[in-house]
Amino acid sequence: MSSVSPSSVFNVKSNEKAKDLGHRQTINFNIGRYNAVVPNGKKQFSDLTRVRQKAKNTKWRAIETLDQQLELFEKNISARGVRVIWAENADEACAAVGEICKAKKCKSIVKSKSMVTEEIHLNEFLESMHIESIETDLGEYIQQLDGEPPYHIVTPAMHKSKEDVAALFARKLNTDPSLTPEQLTLVAREKLREKYVAAEIGVTGANFIIADTGSIAVTENEGNGRLSSAWPKTHIVITGIEKVIPSINDLSFFWPLLATYGTGQQLTVYNTIVSGPRKSDETDGPEEMIVILLDNGRTNIIADAKARESLYCIRCGACLNACPVYKNIGGHSYGTTYSGPIGSVITPNLKDKGDWKHLSYASSLCGNCTEVCAVKINLHELLLHNRHTAVEEGYSTLSEKLAWKLWKRASLSRKLMNTGSGSLKNKVVNSMFKSWSRGRSGLRFSAKTFNQLWKEKNGDE
Ligand code: SF4
Repeated sequence: MSSVSPSSVFNVKSNEKAKDLGHRQTINFNIGRYNAVVPNGKKQFSDLTRVRQKAKNTKWRAIETLDQQLELFEKNISARGVRVIWAENADEACAAVGEICKAKKCKSIVKSKSMVTEEIHLNEFLESMHIESIETDLGEYIQQLDGEPPYHIVTPAMHKSKEDVAALFARKLNTDPSLTPEQLTLVAREKLREKYVAAEIGVTGANFIIADTGSIAVTENEGNGRLSSAWPKTHIVITGIEKVIPSINDLSFFWPLLATYGTGQQLTVYNTIVSGPRKSDETDGPEEMIVILLDNGRTNIIADAKARESLYCIRCGACLNACPVYKNIGGHSYGTTYSGPIGSVITPNLKDKGDWKHLSYASSLCGNCTEVCAVKINLHELLLHNRHTAVEEGYSTLSEKLAWKLWKRASLSRKLMNTGSGSLKNKVVNSMFKSWSRGRSGLRFSAKTFNQLWKEKNGDE
């Protein structure tokens, strides 16, 4: 049975989306709103470049000493009765959640927004165990109702207009199709409240793992993360190991940076630090807390000294909003959990390089992603690095190798470059590289060669 390769799916989907003007209009509208508010958030920093560099340096230290930071985190949080589970891959993480669910006789879970749980396909796994898993972030709830994965790492339903959401609610929840966004939010709120009360387990991610206090920090705007972590009797945190920061004091710049670059706010509405389950003298909080630390390919990235920088990412989503490719093909065309520039950088390294190397080419290399990155990750250089390692490690196809060989040979030979007229070259080259000109205008050679032009301008000098 032949399976379709991720690169073919990407080509088909991105071609379709690039021509979808309605999609482009919605995305440009929503990104336009983001662009309008980010400058306001930035005003809070007296020296933004310095803060971004400080954040980058802090993440550098965290990743360079990752083993020590994680062990310190484990020691500190375990001392308060939290169980820490190390999961090497998605299967191990899901199996750990499955065992907890069995032990708790769990029938339903409330889940706050977490890209890591998307990465391990937790909802599908829970469904196979006949456990209901409800997304409680409004954007994620909309996507779950529609049977779609998140479109964007910060704004999961960014590609939907308010009319789309009203129509979706009418279809799935029998509501009036003319409801306003405020009314739709109230509908979701009412539905979700019932779920919080019934759920035996709450699942959250973590925006930061704090080593020196042994805590996790969750940032959100709706309060659903707090309810998911505090209401059910058991709280499971699933987080990538790269989320670690050395000290609780580092939140003083990571929180405002994440808020500004994520949504243009000075500070996100709810920033919660959780350091353990409810103590005997406390009235709120879960009886039990478990943290699952997920590797799932991250140590492969650490092994590459250059690519390691991609683990500094705080998932603010700014590079997606700035990317001309993302703005045209949208989040779903990538076929990955993490889309946009950061997704194109990490996916080939987290997954199979042979299957996903094409994403490193889904870039104009304009450098806008690097320009806007909250923690100054050199994204466009890392895309080039991915291309380089893919070639070095032998992932190029024969046709690719042949094409570059021919190109190099021709470019280095003055005789070949001067052979034939411009129109003949256009014809030959464009018919040889049909896949290049399918989505672009064809290559156009100058009617005169460089030598002819030089002679005309400078004579025989
Ligand atoms: S790479 Fe930078 S801009 Fe992109 S999501 Fe991560 S922190 Fe934000």
